[in-house]
Formats: sequence, structure tokens, C-alpha cells
Amino acid sequence: MNADFIKALALPEEVKEMCPLTPEMERAVSDTKHEIEQVLEGMSKKLILIIGPCSADNEDSVVDYISRLSPVQEEVKDSIIIVPRIYTNKPRTTGEGYKGMLHQPNPNEKSDLFKGIIATRHLHMRAIAETGFACADEMLYPENYAYLDDLLAYVAVGARSVEDQQHRLTASAIASPVGMKNPTSGDYAVMLNAILAASHPHTFIYRGWEIHSHGNPHAHAILRGYTNKHGEAQPNYHFEDLIRLSEQYEERNLMNPAVIIDTNHANSNKNPFAQPRIIKEVLNSMKLSPEVKNLVKGFMVESYIEDGCQKVGEGVYGKSITDPCLGWNKTVRLIYDIAELIG
Ligand code: PEP
Ligand code: MN
Repeated sequence: MNADFIKALALPEEVKEMCPLTPEMERAVSDTKHEIEQVLEGMSKKLILIIGPCSADNEDSVVDYISRLSPVQEEVKDSIIIVPRIYTNKPRTTGEGYKGMLHQPNPNEKSDLFKGIIATRHLHMRAIAETGFACADEMLYPENYAYLDDLLAYVAVGARSVEDQQHRLTASAIASPVGMKNPTSGDYAVMLNAILAASHPHTFIYRGWEIHSHGNPHAHAILRGYTNKHGEAQPNYHFEDLIRLSEQYEERNLMNPAVIIDTNHANSNKNPFAQPRIIKEVLNSMKLSPEVKNLVKGFMVESYIEDGCQKVGEGVYGKSITDPCLGWNKTVRLIYDIAELIG
């Protein structure tokens, strides 16, 4: 191969032995998974709110952010399940730029993937231990999911990964809800095929093993907007988009038709301040149509301590170094507004 082999990495079992979960942490993960599954199955009327920074760039500011969500969750617990985003690996369109804590535990230093594996596990563990929240992450590299599988309450497959067979087969082996994003082209069929593939059992190779998965009944859609042939961001959260998705779900006879609306990315054209308006429009669509109400199970919001974003190295505490986020004050107002509108 045209590469230097730097070092052999510890196996997931070894890393888990080094950093084991306490029984309380295990309970937090299984309780949150169960709560989310109840919503996806239509057994609970609560909304799922997956919320947090685009990338988890710094352990202290991410835990600080999630700690602030704790008292808010307590206030809205009758109507909203908050699942903080701790996104530790970032897909990059051209391969350039910050690829997340997994690659660079310190964004100002060079890549160190072994340290990154430990740092991402440590961050997810610290979030549960200090805030009680079991969190969400993106499965960018299917084999690395095994380092975090006991910690995550929710897994997303990104727009650039959703057509990939290994992601789909791995999702079929995941014992927690998996959100499949629409691809950057916006093609619903790619996303729905990913959900179908994940819902069935498969035999395949995973981390040097031949394994047989059991199928994931909680794989579902995430609409994140798309890019048209002119390179322009286009939304897919409007009423007609949701009705169309509901119809396409029906044609496929999938077990738990469900969608989470990602309010940033191509839906907001990366204007984080559009997110509250987008949520309010979707909540209104849910009021207008029982079909839409049954389909929409929640939102994914990019939010952090500070508004907007900065370049790596600028060093503003709690400000995104990837996509622009909604700052804390606007975020709290948004969560209370959602609770009031659906309460
Ligand atoms: C993200 O959620 O930050 C992200 C990278 O999303 P997408 O895969 O939709 O671009
Ligand atoms: Mn993002």
C-alpha cells in the first residue's frame, strides 16, 4: 500500500476495559434509547430534539454546553426528549479541514488517532457522568462505532455516507435508533433504501469477523436539505416535502415510518438563525395534517454556547469551528418555545 503504517490500535474490547461504564451510565443509555424508540414506534407523543454543536471540538466547552441543557430538559421533560449531539468525527467534502476529535483531540495540533479514540470515549463518558445525558454521534467510520456502541443513545449516518453498503449493513447490527440522512443530492430513494437495508438482517464482515445482524427496526429518515445542480442549497422541510416522504414510506411498507428534521445544513443554507423559524413551520405543518404529525418525530439543531462559527485556532470558547451554530441564549428560548407550542 502507498502508506506508512504508524501503529496498531487497541481493540474496542481493550479500550472499553480501560474506560468501563458504571451501572448508572449503562442505565442512562438504555433508558434514553428506550424513550427514543417509544417515540419512533408512535407509543409516545414526545418530540426528540437532537441538539448540540456541529463538531465536539473541546471537551470542556462541550460538557459545559450539555450541562446547561440539564435544567432545561427537566422543565420540558413532559413533551421533549433532549439528546445532545456529541459529533466526534466530521465528514469533509474534499477531505481537507478539521475531521473531528477522533482525528485531532486538540484541533490546533496534528492528528493522533489513538489519542482520538480515547478522547472521544472519554468525552461521551464524561457527558453521561456529569449531566446524565446519553448522547448522539455520527457513524462516519463503521468500524469505529465499536469503540462507542455501549455509550450512544442515537446514531446518525451522514449525507455523504448513506449510500454506502458498509454503513447500511452496520446500521442493521446497531441496537439503537439510527437516523439516515438524505444524500446531498436530495434523492429520497437513497435514504429510504438505506432504511430498508438497515431494517433487515445481513451476514457480512465487521472488524475481522463474519457476523449476522438482526436488523434495526428503528432506522428512520433525517431530512437535511440538498444541493441542486447549480450548487444551490434547497430545503426539504416544507409541507409538500413531508407529504411526499410520507407517501414514499407507505409504498415501501417500512415498520416505523419516522423523520427527524435537520434544521441546519442545506435546510437553513447554513444560516443557524433560520432554525427556530424552520421548526415553527414544521410544527405548523404537523397541526395541519395528521399524516405529517404521525411522520415527524423531532428535530436536529446545531447549537453551541456562542452564535456562529470561527476558524480553527481563533480560540473563542464554545464557538463552532465547523458549521455555524445557534448560540446558547437563542437555544434556550427555542426549546421553551417548542415546549409551549406542542404542550
Ligand atoms: C452534521 O450533522 O454536522 C453533518 C455533517 O451533516 P450532513 O451529513 O447532513 O452534511
Ligand atoms: Mn454540521
